[in-house]
Amino acid sequence: MLEHEHPDFLWRSPDPKPSYDVIVVGAGGHGLATAYYLAKRHGITDVAVLERGWLGGGNMGRNTTIIRSNYLWDESAAIYEHSLKLWEGLAEELDYDLLFSQRGVLNLAHNLGDVREAVRRVHANRLNGVDAVWLDADGVKEVCPIVDTSAAPRYPVLGATYQPRGGIAKHDHVAWGYARAADALGVDLIQGCEVTGLLLDGDRIEGVETSRGTIRAGRVALAAAGHSSVLAAMAGLRLPIQSHPLQALVSELLEQVLDCVVMSNAVHVYVSQAHKGELVMGAGIDAYNGYGQRGGVHVIEAQMSAALELFPIFARAHVLRTWGGIVDVTPDASPIVGLTPISGLYLNCGWGTGGFKGTPGSGWVYAHTIAHDAPHPLNAPFSLDRFETGALIDEHGAAAVAH
Ligand SMILES: Cc1cc2nc3c(=O)[nH]c(=O)nc-3n(C[C@H](O)[C@H](O)[C@H](O)COP(=O)(O)OP(=O)(O)OC[C@H]3O[C@@H](n4cnc5c(N)ncnc54)[C@H](O)[C@@H]3O)c2cc1C
Repeated sequence: MLEHEHPDFLWRSPDPKPSYDVIVVGAGGHGLATAYYLAKRHGITDVAVLERGWLGGGNMGRNTTIIRSNYLWDESAAIYEHSLKLWEGLAEELDYDLLFSQRGVLNLAHNLGDVREAVRRVHANRLNGVDAVWLDADGVKEVCPIVDTSAAPRYPVLGATYQPRGGIAKHDHVAWGYARAADALGVDLIQGCEVTGLLLDGDRIEGVETSRGTIRAGRVALAAAGHSSVLAAMAGLRLPIQSHPLQALVSELLEQVLDCVVMSNAVHVYVSQAHKGELVMGAGIDAYNGYGQRGGVHVIEAQMSAALELFPIFARAHVLRTWGGIVDVTPDASPIVGLTPISGLYLNCGWGTGGFKGTPGSGWVYAHTIAHDAPHPLNAPFSLDRFETGALIDEHGAAAVAH
């Protein structure tokens, strides 16, 4: 048992206090991980996490749980690999089974452009100490026998990048594990508490207005994923973010047939099989902006036909459920984690379609940033002002398939 743990429930449900040292807005994975590392690593325990809905009910509970660190640029490889290393010890640290499974991730290449980009990325990964291998089509077949590597598909498989340490985890368990551990360290997790305004004194934050009254804090950390631009606008900040629906689906429960993760940019689908047996498939973003957690049926249809091109064996599987989340997409497909022009107001957003894998690393560096009022070297390049300086971190290649 964790210190201060309650035997009968995973976390308390306290009423908000009038003030805290730090308020974190959003009880998704990033907000919860931030609160945990603030308490655990920095000794800051007078922290409230405010969640307008229920804990883990946003993108955290809606994603397809793919974890990997094989991004192209040094800055990205550093932060995502730091996150992957944290994943590797997280179940022990949180004392909670996260069903973390390093079953390997394949990114398929279907044309010469894909192959060149993929091989370049494998080399870049290896220079950065990230495990990465280039496989030809036979190698792909060896890792994943049910992928069609014949010449029959519209876009035949020419090869793939392979990250053996990549994999999946159970998203709910990750949220609950962080929540339980943060609560045990004294963090207040407050659900059903929507932030409706930010209290400012000039260019300093003083607290938040919420659906449960005013709560004061000298430090307010946004971790609201698809709603970050709405919250930032309350402080007069306009973020370089577009919010899009992103959909996924699961099949009925099947025997285990797929023991790795397979992704394809070209036909646009990514597939894994959950521990319970359902096939978990993700699509690309719906093209329009919006805040409704749903999307168009045509996107699901395209995603399923892409899956069938790659896996003819799925032809008679039935879809059980589809759903959507709202993802926050930046112009360079990289996150924003750091300070804002408002003193005491911090920003963690823009993880777009790929922030689940970043959960531990993001919480770790964000907590450091809040505790020191300065970025950690790992998130310093991911500042908001890169969109003014032009120091972009363009990960459209590595992040092209939404995951
Ligand atoms: C369908 C889908 C598939 C995905 N697949 C993957 C994948 O395979 N791998 C991967 O790495 N990433 C994936 N992602 C992306 C990943 O889910 C997100 O990048 C990540 O979850 C975002 O961080 P979060 O968990 O903190 O967000 P969220 O869980 O969305 O947390 C933000 C929270 O803020 C709350 N909030 C918003 N406004 C307010 C307010 N005013 N007051 C209080 N609270 C507020 C919301 O209710 C929400 O709970 C996927 C996303 C989707 C939608």
